Amino acid sequence: MKHFPIFLSVEDRKIALSGGGDAALAKLRLLLKTEANIVVYARQAAPEIKAWAADRMIDWVQRDFTAGDASGAVLVYAANDDEAVDRAVIDIARAEGVLANHVDNLSNSDFITPAIVDRDPVTVAIGTEGAAPVLARAIKADLEERLPRGLGTMARVGKLFRKFAEALPMGRARRAFWSEYYFQTGPLAFDKDGEEGLGEALGALFTKHLSKTAEAGHVTFVGAGPGDPELLTVKARNALHDADVVIHDRLITPEILELARREALIVDAGKEGFGPSTPQGDIDVMLVKYAAEGHHVVRLKSGDATVFGRLDEEIDACADAAIAYSVIPGITSASAAVASVGQSLTRRGRNSSVRLITGHDVKGYAEQDWRSLASDGEVAAIYMGKKSARFLQGRLMMHGASPQTPVTIVENVSRPNQRIVASQLSHLPEDLADASLTGPALILYGLAPRNAELITQTLEEVAQ
Ligand code: SAH
Repeated sequence: MKHFPIFLSVEDRKIALSGGGDAALAKLRLLLKTEANIVVYARQAAPEIKAWAADRMIDWVQRDFTAGDASGAVLVYAANDDEAVDRAVIDIARAEGVLANHVDNLSNSDFITPAIVDRDPVTVAIGTEGAAPVLARAIKADLEERLPRGLGTMARVGKLFRKFAEALPMGRARRAFWSEYYFQTGPLAFDKDGEEGLGEALGALFTKHLSKTAEAGHVTFVGAGPGDPELLTVKARNALHDADVVIHDRLITPEILELARREALIVDAGKEGFGPSTPQGDIDVMLVKYAAEGHHVVRLKSGDATVFGRLDEEIDACADAAIAYSVIPGITSASAAVASVGQSLTRRGRNSSVRLITGHDVKGYAEQDWRSLASDGEVAAIYMGKKSARFLQGRLMMHGASPQTPVTIVENVSRPNQRIVASQLSHLPEDLADASLTGPALILYGLAPRNAELITQTLEEVAQ
């Protein structure tokens, strides 16, 4: 982000604009939506500007912008449509310490004016840093259509009611009240009786919510997929959006955490195979504690929560404390990893079963049924296997696996830094060492990447 969006306080403050033609008019139409004191500097002005000045909506100073004119202003616009003149205006503004915008000249501007969807006091500002004005217009058109026309009025009336709403317990109860107002009761009342109807509807709704008994908390175990936020299920997204508390794994990406509500408490309960960790017991206690306080707790686990996720221990903790819970399945990294190499986990005539195995467990390197895994055509997705490559290789070869058995390592599955390493059993430890993996990696035993070039191409096409 090269530009940081903010909402600037302009009420009763001066905004100076230099110019009297079309570029000036376009900006003034936007600025007139504000409660700023707008001062236009122009020797000649379009009829609209003269009319606005006559109606005292703006001040028109009938001369060029000169030194001293920026002082006391919060913003300066150079809108003369004349490169040299506008540059001079910008220089004056900068010398006088005021943020300046050179219309249609991004590089000479301190700020840019976004496309605006106006449902005052609800304002949506859309910017593309000059990269794609078409996109900004399309987003604006989309939002204009979607946001009900009464939204601004509803928000204004709602704001007056905020003090009363504090009588409702903070968190879920209060949110449920506001959500029903904005998305059900409010729009209905506004359509029926306009602004007049809103106050009464709010009052009635408030009484109804006040008499509700406090809701019990609950825990939702959510599989967050391998990292790409687009691989979340709709249910997972909704749960995240609704959560009061989010307790997450080390492997959850920031892009996914971004989808939680801003007020939600986010707790990092990272566990690392060989590093520092939050003890499982502490996580269990935390889940129960927050839910018992009446919160909606989302326990966010990478991939699918039921695969190497210690889900059962956490469910037991909830059950023992009589806390209600539900589980939302996610895309496990094995599914996402095979997708990225164009293979299937099972294939008719090759393998009719697939194993999800772990490279290490509580006792160290994990033992498996090596003999059957060593047969031709077998496929296994090996989780947490980075450190156990030599052990896996030894066990499998000892039980007769072919040294040429394909093995594919997929690091950071589904993330922008995803890496695919094609190897085979005979030199798996060396290839793994050479790859110097730093992210989570899944080892696909018995599968080679297929049509790697084609797959990437398709992805790029999709991205376009
Ligand atoms: N519940 C998770 C697995 C948790 S165990 C799931 O269903 O995917 C942690 C292991 O999962 C990691 O050591 C790694 O082997 C694998 N893993 C998780 N996310 C991954 C990712 N984005 N890329 C590659 N491997 C991943």
